[in-house]
Amino acid sequence: MPVLWLTGFFTVLVCFSITSITLWQLRQSRAHELDIAEINAANLSRSMAQQADDTFDQADIPVVGIVERLSYDGLGAASSSRMHDYLRATAASVEQIQGLFIYDKDGNWAGTSMNHIPSDANNADREYFQFHKAIDSTLPHIGQAIRSRSTGDWIIPLSRRVNDSAGHFAGVVLATIDLSYFDRFFDRFDIGHRGVITLALADGTVLTRRPALENVRGASIADGELFRTYLKEHYEGTATVRSILDHQLRIYGYKRLDRYPLVVMAGLSEEEVLDEWRQYAWRSLAIIVCVVVANLLFGVLLFQQIRFGLNAESQLRIASHSLEKLALQDGLTGLANRRHFQEILGLEFANGGPNLHPLSLIMIDIDFFKSYNDNYGHVAGDKCIVAVAECIRSNLNRTGDLAVRYGGEEMAVFLPYSEAQGAYALAEKIRVAVLTRGLEHQGNPGGVVSISLGVYGCAAQACPTMETFIERADAALYRAKHEGRNRTVLWQEA
Ligand code: GH3
Ligand code: MG
Ligand code: MG
Repeated sequence: MPVLWLTGFFTVLVCFSITSITLWQLRQSRAHELDIAEINAANLSRSMAQQADDTFDQADIPVVGIVERLSYDGLGAASSSRMHDYLRATAASVEQIQGLFIYDKDGNWAGTSMNHIPSDANNADREYFQFHKAIDSTLPHIGQAIRSRSTGDWIIPLSRRVNDSAGHFAGVVLATIDLSYFDRFFDRFDIGHRGVITLALADGTVLTRRPALENVRGASIADGELFRTYLKEHYEGTATVRSILDHQLRIYGYKRLDRYPLVVMAGLSEEEVLDEWRQYAWRSLAIIVCVVVANLLFGVLLFQQIRFGLNAESQLRIASHSLEKLALQDGLTGLANRRHFQEILGLEFANGGPNLHPLSLIMIDIDFFKSYNDNYGHVAGDKCIVAVAECIRSNLNRTGDLAVRYGGEEMAVFLPYSEAQGAYALAEKIRVAVLTRGLEHQGNPGGVVSISLGVYGCAAQACPTMETFIERADAALYRAKHEGRNRTVLWQEA
């Protein structure tokens, strides 16, 4: 039943479409959220890089000036009160500079922005001092975050080498940059609860991080995927990687500064970025489940309704078919009834035009049937009628031949396309068939049931009216009865 299949298919199709469209939309909106987070992280890292650049630039300018002056005036100028005033004023006016220091070639304090020089102070052991002493470079050096010996604050050392007029190592000028300056700057950004901002040296050593973790300053993240893979290929970009410090999956924007060996990273927690999306997804899925379930229920209901309708229709068809049969068939024998016979005959004789093919009619009547009923009862009489009807039916083999129960124990056979002789031969076959059936009938001289038959046939274009056609067959039957029964009589012109 294609309608049923279509209903099922359509219901499933609707469910499938709704589900797949929603899932596709969810996928798209997820990707969109992640894209936006990537853009935000990238923008954040750029802005941090710019700020770091500016911070170190501003701190480096006075350092460059001091180095230049000492190169010409010699390191003796470091301890002058003029230099001390300059260092103090500069440190005070540049916010990120925590202090300015000048060390001679042995690491002794030669000048500072501090109020006094601690006795026996020597910084020859510091990494930046060793670096400048070993490497003759005019570039600034940024060292690891350290705790200041003078104040105890966390600082980043920015230093440059001083050469004497002969080009030999003469000392180091150092600006210490207050790490809390970066912390204050980082605090201004909204990175969510699980986001992270990191300032690190190019070798992966963490200078500062928000949120701060225990012992994070000086820790190395060089083994993290960002340093191992991404920063090796690009100095700037975005990547979704897992932090090696707290194992959170984050969308990072990263940038390595152009002029300083520093890297900034801004990471937004993927879980947090997708928080809102996840809630939306759950709501959408709940709605989809409801819609799909409702649709399936509706589909099942529709399916049942259609099946019920189709069943009712086929039952109606069967009922109407059997009603039609009942209207045209005789209930006892299954032969056509008289009404059907008259309809068929009516069609043949319609319009009053000449018949285009021969027509024949055999009228049949059981002999002494009244006495059969009397002897054997009506029920047996009915059975006898049925037996005769079977004999008639089994001898018909042309489609179009019509056996009829004409009334009571009278039957007829209408034979379109048969000539009188053919009809006569068939009538005889039927008569013999009934006789050889040998149904006992004491009221009949032969002792068995016999029939009398009257036959009338007309050639094409030579038939009388319908009434005459029937009357003549009837007359032949009358003659068969009159001439002694158990015989077939062909109608003849008197
Ligand atoms: P004939 O040889 O002249 O035909 O004698 P008959 O006794 O058969 O006379 P007729 O044909 O006039 O008899 C009809 C009888 O058939 C009347 C009735 O008792 C019986 N009969 C008619 N219809 C039925 C029927 O449906 N069932 C039974 N059992 N008997 C019927
Ligand atoms: Mg009769
Ligand atoms: Mg009779």
